Parts: sequence; C-alpha cells; structure tokens
Amino acid sequence: MSNKDGIFSDAGINTQLTHLGNDPAGNHGFVNPPIMRGSTVLFPDAETLVTEKQKYTYGTHGTPTTDALCEVVNQLEGSAGTILLPSGLAAVTVPFLAYLSAGDHALIVDSVYFPSRRFCNTMLKQYGIEVEYYDPAIGAGIEALIRPNTRLIHLEAPGSNTFEMQDVRLISSIAHTYDCVVTMDNTWATPLYFKPLEHGVDVSIHAATKYPAGHSDVLMGFVSANEKHWKKLNDANRDLGLCVTSDDAYQVLRGLRTMGVRLEHHRKSALEIAQWLESRDDVAQVLHPALPSFPSHDIWKRDFKGSTGVFSFVLKAEPNTFKQKSHAFLDALSIFGLGFSWGGYESLAVLVSLRDRVVAKGPTEGPIIRLQIGLEDVADLKRDLEAGFAAAAAVA
Ligand SMILES: *Cc1c(COP(=O)(O)O)cnc(C)c1O
Repeated sequence: MSNKDGIFSDAGINTQLTHLGNDPAGNHGFVNPPIMRGSTVLFPDAETLVTEKQKYTYGTHGTPTTDALCEVVNQLEGSAGTILLPSGLAAVTVPFLAYLSAGDHALIVDSVYFPSRRFCNTMLKQYGIEVEYYDPAIGAGIEALIRPNTRLIHLEAPGSNTFEMQDVRLISSIAHTYDCVVTMDNTWATPLYFKPLEHGVDVSIHAATKYPAGHSDVLMGFVSANEKHWKKLNDANRDLGLCVTSDDAYQVLRGLRTMGVRLEHHRKSALEIAQWLESRDDVAQVLHPALPSFPSHDIWKRDFKGSTGVFSFVLKAEPNTFKQKSHAFLDALSIFGLGFSWGGYESLAVLVSLRDRVVAKGPTEGPIIRLQIGLEDVADLKRDLEAGFAAAAAVA
C-alpha cells in the first residue's frame, strides 16, 4: 500500500476511486503507475537469490502494476488480499479449487452464472466433489442442507438473469457455525453498492470484465479474501500458475477511476427504463431488484447501496409464440447490440435460457430478455425498444 492510501480510507467513494493505488512520488511524479512488463526479475547477489528476500521475484507473482490494482481492490473490499485472474469465470473456479477436496460437498445457489454451474457439474464432479443447488430464497433453510462434509457455500446476488436477492448475512452466519467457507459472486453490484466481506462473506468474487474494466475490451477476475481465508487462496493461485498481464491490469485500473460516475449513469438509466417497461401492457414482469414490485426487493433495500445497469423483463406471449416474438423483438433493435457479457459503455440485449435451473425455475409467462443499459441517452434507448415491441406485436 502506498503511504497515502490511509488518507483515503474515510474519503467518499469517488475520491477513493480517483486516488487509491497511485504513487506519483514513487514514479517520478507521473500520476499513473508504470506498465511493468516482465517475467525475469534480477537479484543483486546470491544470498538474495536463494532466499528470494525482495519484493518482486518473478512475473507470475506480481508486478508494480498488478500490485497497484490489487491495492485499490483490497481497499474497496476491505479484504486481506486479492488475486487477479484472466477471466471472471476463473475468479469463480479458482476459489472452488482452493477450498474444496475430494469427498467434500458444496452448496451452490441455483441462480448461479451458467458457466460456474458447468464447472461444478464437470470438473468438480471429476475430482470427487459433490455439488447441490439451492433456492436463492432459502434463507435460514440452508441449515437443513448442510451435511457433515459440506465445506463451501456459494452465493450470487442478485442471481444471473433472474436477479433474485439472497439473505447474505443470515446464510453466512449459519455457514460459519458449521465451519463452511462462504464465497460470493458480487459482479452485479461491485464493491461500490455491496461489500460482501462486511456482510459475513469470506471470499468476494468479481468479473472485472464487467464494470471495473467498463469498456468491453478486457477480460479479468478479482478474488478478495478475508484474513482467515487469504493464505489458502493465494497458495492455490501460485500452485496453479495463474496471473494477468500488467497491460491488462493497467486497463482495469484505468476503468476503476471512472467506475463511480459510470455506475451512477447506468443505475439511473436502467431504473428509468425498468419503470417504463413495468407500465407497458406487452410486458408481463420486470426482474429488477430495485423495483418495489420485485419479490426480494426488501433484501436489496436493506443491504445494497445502489443498483446497476443489468436486468431482465418477460415479454408477454402465448407459449407457441415465445421464439418468434422474442426473435422479432431482438432483430428489430439497432442501438442495443445482441451479445454476451455486460458492464461496458454500450447497451446489449440477450435472450435468457433457464433450462439449466433445478430449483429456481423463473417466470414462465413469456420469453425472458436481459438488457444491459449502457451510457446512451434514455430517449434513444426507449425508441429502440419501442421498435422491438412493435415487431413482436406484429407476430401473429
Ligand atoms: C460475466 C460474469 C462472470 C464471468 O466473467 P468473464 O470475465 O466473462 O469470464 C462471472 N460471474 C458473473 C455473475 C458474470 O456476470
């Protein structure tokens, strides 16, 4: 941590995002850290070489650029340590590998990001770990699912695509009485709107590809652990040999500087569009945790400081027209791009599939469309969505 970071621990979030991790005095006055590329790091003499007693020892173990980014993330999360990984998916899979062993049982929320589920059903199974999916609304009911060999409980709130909230503090406190590690994918909220470790979570996970990077051009994951679970995570990461480049770390650090102002824009625009959708006759339901009509809205209101730009809605349709209506809607959009991921500056739409769900089956009144509301003007986005609704209505 640079000497100045203590000054910012009580500052407002945008002040922190602007200054944390920078050390101009240590970098010839330049505002930003250098992009330090490298594998080999030289040692001054044989004694230092054999003991490895110097700050940097090899490229995979960190550089001044990756350290600057980890420093910012640790301050935002209140974590003991953070590892940087080459994708958000790796930020989910590496902690699973770090904390689980053959014969263990893991409880995974059913509204989990689909590729996380695929990893559980393939690799974890291959290594003899039993996985069970639980209802995001389970609350205190989680206790009944904990077995003597349950070692890890994974949360994601709001859930992917359907946005169910979870009672994070309650589940974490029950998990800890059984000595289970609690991991949480907090990608949607970012540490600006929810800090998992302050609510009892042990390991906070982010797809930094989304809002931290913010420009649809970098893939990265953050995993931040509390003191108790940091060593095991860091050791596993070293054993696996995973790392990110300084160039990518620099880009994400640059994205973080503006994340506060970007999120505020995403939040306002997405909420305005969600409310507008809710008032329409051709929409059956809007799945956005900041809407009072949303079933787990009370948890969002109690625990979260804000909402972001991704939510879904259910397009009203007869079962035999789901496919035609949803395709007509998406094909009529011209500002919204059709594509995966989110968190960039541009608006996106995708058709949601809930075929993988085992407990939390989701709404059935029509096809579910997920929107990422970008930084465009709301009036233009509404006009684009109007074209989609007109095209869907034209399907007999
Ligand atoms: C996108 C996403 C990920 C994966 O991030 P990638 O960098 O695309 O691998 C993980 N979790 C959630 C909730 C996501 O939305």
